[in-house]
Amino acid sequence: MENFKEPIMVTKSFLPPLNEYMKELERIWDNSWLTNNGEIHNEFEKNLVQYLGVPYASLFVNGHLALETAIKSQHLTGQVITTPFTFTSTTHAIVNCGLEPIFCDIEPSTYNIDAQKIEDLITEKTTAIVPVHVFGNPCDVFEIEKIAKRHNLKVIYDAAHAFGVEINGVGIGNYGDISMFSMHATKVFHSIEGGVLTYSDNHHKSFIDLYKNFGISGPEDIELIGINAKMNEFQAAMGLVNIRYVENEIAKRRELVGVYRYLLKDIKGITVLEDMVGIKHNYAYFPILVDEESFGMNRNELHETLKEYNIFTRKYFYPLITNMECYSSYKTRYNLPVAERIANSVLTLPIYSRLSVDDIEKICSAIKKIHQNLN
Ligand SMILES: *Cc1c(COP(=O)(O)O)cnc(C)c1O
Repeated sequence: MENFKEPIMVTKSFLPPLNEYMKELERIWDNSWLTNNGEIHNEFEKNLVQYLGVPYASLFVNGHLALETAIKSQHLTGQVITTPFTFTSTTHAIVNCGLEPIFCDIEPSTYNIDAQKIEDLITEKTTAIVPVHVFGNPCDVFEIEKIAKRHNLKVIYDAAHAFGVEINGVGIGNYGDISMFSMHATKVFHSIEGGVLTYSDNHHKSFIDLYKNFGISGPEDIELIGINAKMNEFQAAMGLVNIRYVENEIAKRRELVGVYRYLLKDIKGITVLEDMVGIKHNYAYFPILVDEESFGMNRNELHETLKEYNIFTRKYFYPLITNMECYSSYKTRYNLPVAERIANSVLTLPIYSRLSVDDIEKICSAIKKIHQNLN
């Protein structure tokens, strides 16, 4: 097998044809309007409403501040039930809003919060659930909705990974009270940095749009204590151009994922996720689980060994939130066997549209060879 001459990273940001972006930049120069609800910002927001199939959307400078704003907008107190298997942003947003995160174990089949285990964690202090659609695979949104109704809880989805995902033809941003999509450069769709909140209740819009602009409602009117999290015109221009290519990006990834699944299926000790019934996936990530006993080495060793082949994978999500130094006080309070097992065995392999089928074949033969050398 021939090694990769150039390192293959776990992801590579999509860049549109430069002339298309330049065209949008010319509009910025013509308008001399750089931020604060510019023309391109407003156009991009409308496009997102349409593409995501949601009633309302609000743009943000990044996904994290969008998530904090979503949580703030619900005026919550006390405890919020969430997942320990996520990017650190989810938990930081909850804690930065003065709330206590309560960690629920995850499902072994989707790595999402286990809806069957949520109710055991509800107390009189619980006010919301913040689930994450991990790797873009939908949570059990119907069960979560039932639980939320029964206990009068708000639901805010961290949909950072789930741009473009649909459940039975319905945009995933229609579930829960609010959903947050990240448009960071490393995500399946991006506006350099960026975030968008989607919701169906129009009265959230006034709080959300005020809050992200210091709470300023008029030249002499400061209605509430907000932050600055506005998306600027340069970001909106990138988003506006990139959205023309997002379906193509997803289609190419879909093909590559098909090749990965086919080539990895016979390697002992490697588990892949399959498509879910009724779901339009976005193939944002390609996670595998490495079973030490049957594969012959553990996840950490495979991660290291693949580097020798110039293949750079990512332990995502690892460590678990409860094992991070800043959340270590939570560590002993929770029993999270499934989340622990997944975090210790998960590895995301390279996936982005500019990879070729040939590249995927090489990555898979490297994994096969490593396995064979051990057995
Ligand atoms: C990327 C990400 C975020 C944060 O989004 P940014 O746009 O990078 O601020 C939050 N949650 C999850 C699960 C993410 O992957």
